[in-house]
Amino acid sequence: MNIHEYQAKAVLKEFGVPVSRGVPVLKVEDAEAAARELGGPLWVVKSQIHAGGRGKGKFKEAAAGDKGGVRLAKSVDEVKLFVEQMLGNTLVTVQTGPAGKQVNRLYVEDGSDIAKEFYLSALVDRVTSRVSFVVSTEGGMDIEDVAHKTPEKIKTFSVDPATGVMPHHGRTVAKALGLVGDLAKQAEKLVAQLYAAFVAKDMAMLEINPLIVTKQGDLKCLDAKVSFDSNALYRHPDILALRDETEEDAKEIEASKYDLSYIALDGTIGCMVNGAGLAMATMDIIKLYGMEPANFLDVGGGASKEKVTAAFKIITADPNVKGILVNIFGGIMRCDVIAEGVIAAVKEVGLKVPLVVRLEGTNVDLGKKIIRESGLNVIPADDLDDAAQKIVKAVKETV
Ligand code: GDP
Ligand code: MG
Repeated sequence: MNIHEYQAKAVLKEFGVPVSRGVPVLKVEDAEAAARELGGPLWVVKSQIHAGGRGKGKFKEAAAGDKGGVRLAKSVDEVKLFVEQMLGNTLVTVQTGPAGKQVNRLYVEDGSDIAKEFYLSALVDRVTSRVSFVVSTEGGMDIEDVAHKTPEKIKTFSVDPATGVMPHHGRTVAKALGLVGDLAKQAEKLVAQLYAAFVAKDMAMLEINPLIVTKQGDLKCLDAKVSFDSNALYRHPDILALRDETEEDAKEIEASKYDLSYIALDGTIGCMVNGAGLAMATMDIIKLYGMEPANFLDVGGGASKEKVTAAFKIITADPNVKGILVNIFGGIMRCDVIAEGVIAAVKEVGLKVPLVVRLEGTNVDLGKKIIRESGLNVIPADDLDDAAQKIVKAVKETV
């Protein structure tokens, strides 16, 4: 799960990490009070969207001006102007795709005088099973570009979970960034604070780009991008409360409420399957017979009728779906439960496209009987191959 920059900074601040003072602004009317509270003389007005590259981004609407999604303001009036221009408009950056993202929140910060910009991130490295740090003198730039063109400017190291973060990790960072004296001490402290935050909050990634040295000689995190391990969110209600659903795919949000593994795809055949392996095989065989799946959907091993109904509704709500293939192997899952779920969903939302159902396993006869006697226009199939051929044929006949 991702959060906004201003939320990430608030989390980091709990661990003592140095960030600028700032005030989130959700309404144009609040801009002036925010600017006055901070006091100036320099402010930064920052678009809060779950995508990077905001500074170099462009708004779609002419009324939003052409100064990008992160702007320096030199007066209260300028803060107000930028807030009016940016709020509610659509920002396009290299990370949003051409459609861009609507800016519904802004963060007004105390402006910093930048002497140097660096890059620092931490992430879970699956190869070493440790938290790894990535550091570079090339801050404010795309780190992928730096890695590609000047890999020698990137330093990485990992932290042994048995010892946790040690002073030498901080010294490694200071050395990589060419920091000495008091700044080296600040770097040491910062690395320890970031590591503590990372572990305590079950982060998956933490990116500070740029980490700056101010003209006053302080190290500060000027930007913060944080994502969390979804599997650990159950033990962080404070983090879960920061979720901004307007930044996520509506179908995937609905699916997550029912604990369904759902990923929207570009094709036309909606799939409802149990088990990730069977779901992958179902997608493959649809492709083999010449069509594309509209989604990956694993309803899981022990799905309830409610879960199946929710899954079916999510599939039918997708306007690209021209046919549905239900492919269930009843092991722990019982075929009659699936059948009842499918029927309940069809009764609720209707069925405007062909539906092929292949059931196998526990209570299969009962499941087939329930579907047969429902009076619904369902095409039964006996095995995976037969099912894929039937749904492809049915879709071809209807379009
Ligand atoms: P991003 O473009 O989405 O990565 O947003 P950032 O928060 O990294 O801001 C983009 C750029 O704006 C930074 O790399 C800085 O150069 C600049 N910037 C952000 N905050 C300040 C500030 O307080 N003072 C100054 N002078 N520049 C800033
Ligand atoms: Mg940045």
